[in-house]
Amino acid sequence: MPEYTEEDFDLETRMVAPEYTPDDAEVENPLRPKQLSDYIGQEKVKENMSVYIRAALKRQETLDHVLLYGPPGLGKTTLAGIIANELGVHLRITSGPAIERPGDLAAILTNLNPGDVLFIDEVHRLPRTVEEILYPAMEDFSLDIITGKGQMAASYHLPLPHFTLVGATTRAGQLSAPLRDRFGIVERLELYAPRDLARIVTRSAGILGVEISAEGALEIASRSRGTPRIANRMLKRVRDFAQVASDGKITYEAAKKALDRMEVDELGLDANDRRMLLTMIRYYNGGPVGLETLAAAIGEEAVTLEDVYEPYLMQIGFLQRTPRGRVATKAAYLHLDVPYPEPQADPQQQTLF
Ligand code: ADP
Repeated sequence: MPEYTEEDFDLETRMVAPEYTPDDAEVENPLRPKQLSDYIGQEKVKENMSVYIRAALKRQETLDHVLLYGPPGLGKTTLAGIIANELGVHLRITSGPAIERPGDLAAILTNLNPGDVLFIDEVHRLPRTVEEILYPAMEDFSLDIITGKGQMAASYHLPLPHFTLVGATTRAGQLSAPLRDRFGIVERLELYAPRDLARIVTRSAGILGVEISAEGALEIASRSRGTPRIANRMLKRVRDFAQVASDGKITYEAAKKALDRMEVDELGLDANDRRMLLTMIRYYNGGPVGLETLAAAIGEEAVTLEDVYEPYLMQIGFLQRTPRGRVATKAAYLHLDVPYPEPQADPQQQTLF
């Protein structure tokens, strides 16, 4: 049995973080599906998009603007690429925070070719002044620009090529109402079931030229918190492990050993998730505890808890959001091996009945 050192595993970046890291680029680019038929899971979204795309092609019109929302790493950028590909047009990628001034957006829009797809990631972070010139661009395909001040002021009405805006956001609720209303198509991406993630892992392994068993793929899938980005990242790391331990083939044992080593448990929880749940249990009796309080207690940003930790913990039934705060469920206690304090029956109620 070979020995492993910490250096075999870069433990610095959080393995189960769904956000994009530069390390992902190497593995993500070749793995991105190019066609709707290669896009695994999200059946409802896929069916809808397929109809809209075919209808737009048939009418020879541009596709309506699309808003994709859901947690990071679920395939929003990938889907934007597929939409452009299926429409046979170019894809231009940018993000809300990258467009600082109205002029930045004007430059992007005037450089589009007719029919192009413009993908704006984190569209909820567009500055207000930029958003305002986006409205007429989305609605009438025109730019209204005012230059100068007072008597020297002049306004220009500039026609733009017709285009499709694909906006992506992790938080649809933070989008301003006027912007949200201008998207004709709104689709929500859901966390993936382990079965679909296993198909993604198997497909990715094929592209990377790695042999993998069905059990190995499922083991990676079930620890990937419903997120393809995490599944692909884990696959890459397990591949390294398998190279040393089992002639390169990813078996159930190789996957399990590698993932245990990375301290990602059978359900995909890492030390951070466990710390958050244990903090709730030990210091707040399992909740309810307010989001900000909890974030401060574990030294994380509240948005990180909301966007990154919570969707998966809620999906597996470990956490509930209530009007009075977050609550750890009985399932979370059991998973963490902490005795669950069964709620006491209310004595007043007992006397009533
Ligand atoms: P997002 O934009 O939502 O953060 P991405 O589109 O960048 O997520 O997806 C992350 C990675 O996950 C991509 O590189 C892609 O390979 C993979 N991926 C996402 N969704 C799917 C899917 N439905 N089928 C196959 N691979 C997927």
